[in-house]
This record gives sequence, structure tokens and C-alpha cells, in this order.
Amino acid sequence: MKQSRRQFIGQCSTMVSASAISGMIGRMPTQDQPLVNWAGNYRYSTQRITSPTSLAQVQEFVRKHERFKVLGTRHCFNGIADSADEFLSLRDLNHVVELDRASRTVTVESGMSYGQLCPYLDQQGFALHNLASLPHISIAGACATATHGSGPTNGNLSTAVSALEVVSASGEVLTFARRADLAAFQAAVVHLGAIGVVTKVTLDLQPAFTMRQDVYLDLPMTQVRDHFDEIVSAGYSVSLFTDWQKGRINEVWVKRRIEKDATLTATKDFYGAHPATTNVHPIVELSAENCTEQMGVPGPWYDRLPHFRMGFTPSSGKELQSEYFVPRRNAVDAILAVERLRDHVSPHLMITELRTIDADELWMSPCSRRPSVAIHFTWKQDWESVSKVLPMIERELAPFEVRPHWGKLFTIPSAQLQQRYEKCVEFKRFVAQYDPHGKFRNEFLSANLY
Ligand SMILES: Cc1cc2nc3c(=O)[nH]c(=O)nc-3n(C[C@H](O)[C@H](O)[C@H](O)COP(=O)(O)OP(=O)(O)OC[C@H]3O[C@@H](n4cnc5c(N)ncnc54)[C@H](O)[C@@H]3O)c2cc1C
Repeated sequence: MKQSRRQFIGQCSTMVSASAISGMIGRMPTQDQPLVNWAGNYRYSTQRITSPTSLAQVQEFVRKHERFKVLGTRHCFNGIADSADEFLSLRDLNHVVELDRASRTVTVESGMSYGQLCPYLDQQGFALHNLASLPHISIAGACATATHGSGPTNGNLSTAVSALEVVSASGEVLTFARRADLAAFQAAVVHLGAIGVVTKVTLDLQPAFTMRQDVYLDLPMTQVRDHFDEIVSAGYSVSLFTDWQKGRINEVWVKRRIEKDATLTATKDFYGAHPATTNVHPIVELSAENCTEQMGVPGPWYDRLPHFRMGFTPSSGKELQSEYFVPRRNAVDAILAVERLRDHVSPHLMITELRTIDADELWMSPCSRRPSVAIHFTWKQDWESVSKVLPMIERELAPFEVRPHWGKLFTIPSAQLQQRYEKCVEFKRFVAQYDPHGKFRNEFLSANLY
């Protein structure tokens, strides 16, 4: 990851608790309280935040400032959202603009989070096709970095976008719509914060659906080797959690849609894994209180697709995250390559999650043109150690043209990173059209793309 290490608070002994951090989101920091990301590992370079309440105010801000970044819900682990100058926060622009039943789309102001939107959509009889592990993230911030859930036929969350309203560097209001100019749309959706201020997002919908979630414990790694495709296709969305110990996947979370009148049951034996007898957290030692309901209890899509519930402090907070995408055809080889590194990985790891994501056509999406498997690492908050393990993982996964999650920690050199995106040069040309003087450029973008 290309950014100054000084910004990593890492093992800071004065770390505030996870609940304090999530409580801080959306609040202005005080002078003696630095502005940090959700995990508290990244200290932003400025505390100056302006929160407009109208499109006109956004335009005015954009015209007035030479350089700034839009800050979402601060869930990235690196400096992608950082600014040395100013932040614009759209947290007060968080309403549904239009639900179009006929075209099955919803348009929202971009400060809205999935947690705010989903219950409304469900009440109206609609659903999104997928969600990330937690609902607290902003829709605009998630789509900017190609945030994803799981499911071999589910594209990442950005693939639900059908249009964006963007204020460009000149203050002009632009629309990028799938139906209008497909190439510009495909360039704009996963924009990494580089093209302007996204003020509205239009998302594709489908009819609301009910789901159940069943968890199986102790899946032998040999079964992953021999039956990977069957295992990840056992539900609409399947996640495999492992600590890379004892040659096994610790937990398999199978999220299935319950079609009307169908009765589903959990199998007693899932490729050698056995059903959990109570709700579990991905890290089995932690309380499952914050996790979405399991044990096959039917519930609405938005309360089963994420692992963590809205209204609770998700995960443990004091952590770091990295995630690597490789083509699905290389899934087993890539997983076994990481398993071979277990003695280096495990001492610093809280848990790994394996997920699948369908290919898309979005230029800067890590799943661009590749059905993918994502190998995720939730690390203990010790950047010094983690920063030594990441290059080892990246080296092992290099033969598979690995791409990192844009919002998580990585150390892949910029030249390699750029080579792995067919459209990278065109993307930079596209950015230059809307931001010719680098108003939205920051250290992260400069280091990784320029
Ligand atoms: C506990 C936890 C769980 C996570 N789970 C998942 C997961 O399941 N799957 C996954 O893929 N990722 C996951 N992530 C990563 C996360 O979803 C992404 O990093 C996402 O980008 C965070 O959105 P944000 O609004 O918090 O972004 P921020 O960090 O605030 O910003 C991200 C980028 O988006 C830009 N941006 C935000 N809003 C706008 C806007 N309106 N206009 C223009 N640019 C904008 C910012 O400038 C920045 O470049 C998780 C993160 C955490 C902390």
C-alpha cells in the first residue's frame, strides 16, 4: 500500500474502543480527537469537514476548493479517502429520491448507507441483489471501491448501479447512465474517488425475498480442493471462514433464498462438515450477538445477506483488513498457495474469509472481466507485522494476476497494479476529462495510479 507509514496508528496504545469509533462516525472530531477511519488504524491528514445539505452547496464547495476528497463512512483501511486539505461529507444528503416501480430502480442521495436504505426497500417489496458483510457502509463509498458480498452468480455491489449523478471538478452536474453511454458508465462506476462528487446513485432492484442462513463447522480443506465449485454454489451466497490451521475451514456460512412455499432443511453432513447447533461469530470464540440470525431461521434478505446486524457494533473494530481477488478458475491453487504460508499468516490473523464474485465490465473493478474468488484477511492490528506478510501473499498469488481490494491494505507495486487493469490507461484519460487539474487526486491515487 502506497502511503506514508506515519499515518498508521497501528498498535497505538491509546486506541479508542470499537464502539467509540463507530459512535464517532459522522461526528466532527474535536481538536484533541484525531479524525480516524472506522478501524482506527488510519489517521486522516486533516480534520476540516464540510457537510452540505443541497446539490447547490456541493457545487459551490467544489468551485471554491482547489483540492479535497469526499469522505464516506470511513470504512476503508488505507488512505484512499484521505485529503491533506479538506473533506466534503455527504452524510446529510441521505434520502431516497425516487423509487421507480416500473423500471425497478431506486435513486438515493449518496450519503445514504445500505442499513438506512434496505428496510425501506423491503417494506416497498424490493431488494438489492447482494450486500457486504455489514450494512453500515455508505452506498457511494462502497460502489466507489467495488465492495462485494458473495455468490458465484452475484456481481459486486457496484454492478447494481445503473446511473450516477456526479459534480465534476468544474462544478458541473453530470449523469453517467448505463443506458446512455455504456463506456463512460463502465469507467465511472468504480471511480476510486477520482472523478468527482457522486451526489446521487441509482440502483437496480429485484422483488424482495426471504432467506435462511445455515452454518457448518470443520470442513476439511481436502473437500475444498476436490469440490470447490459445488461448495460455493451450495447457496445464493456462501462464505468460508478459516484460520488456516488444522487443514480445515472453520465455518461455512450458507445463505439460501427461500422461494415461495418451498421448505428447505439443513443437511446433517456438508462435505464432511457438521451443522452448528447455535449462532456463531466468524471467529468462533467471539459472541454471535452482533451476527445476523442463523440456524435456518427465515428472515428478510437484508438481515441475512450481511454477517453483522445493523444497530450493533460490527466485528471487533480493532483490526486490519486485506483482500485479494484471483480468477475463479485458479481458486483452489490460490487457496492452497496461501495455506502453505500459514505459519507466516496465522500468528497475525484473526480470520480469513473466502467468497466468490461474478465477473463484471466495470473498468477498475477487481472482478473486471473475471469471475473471481476473494481471499480476505482480518488481521490483528499490528501493521508492522502485517506489512511483512502481505508481500509474501502477493508473491504467491502473483501467478494468478492477483488484484487487491481498493479499500483494504496491500503492498503491490504501482506498476504491477496498473498492468493488472486492462483499462487503467483509459481510466486515467477518463479521469483527466472531468478532473484535469487533480482536484480529487490524493496521495493514494498518486502513488498507486500515477
Ligand atoms: C468492518 C468492515 C467490513 C467490511 N466488509 C466488506 C465486505 O464485506 N466486502 C467488501 O468488499 N468490502 C468490505 N469492507 C470495505 C468497505 O466496504 C469499502 O472499503 C468501502 O469503500 C467503504 O465505504 P465508505 O463509505 O466507508 O468509504 P470511505 O472510506 O469513506 O471512502 C472510500 C472511497 O470512496 C470515495 N467516496 C465516498 N463517497 C463518495 C462520494 N459521494 N463521491 C465521490 N467519492 C466518494 C472516497 O473519496 C474514497 O475514495 C469492509 C470494511 C469494514 C471496516
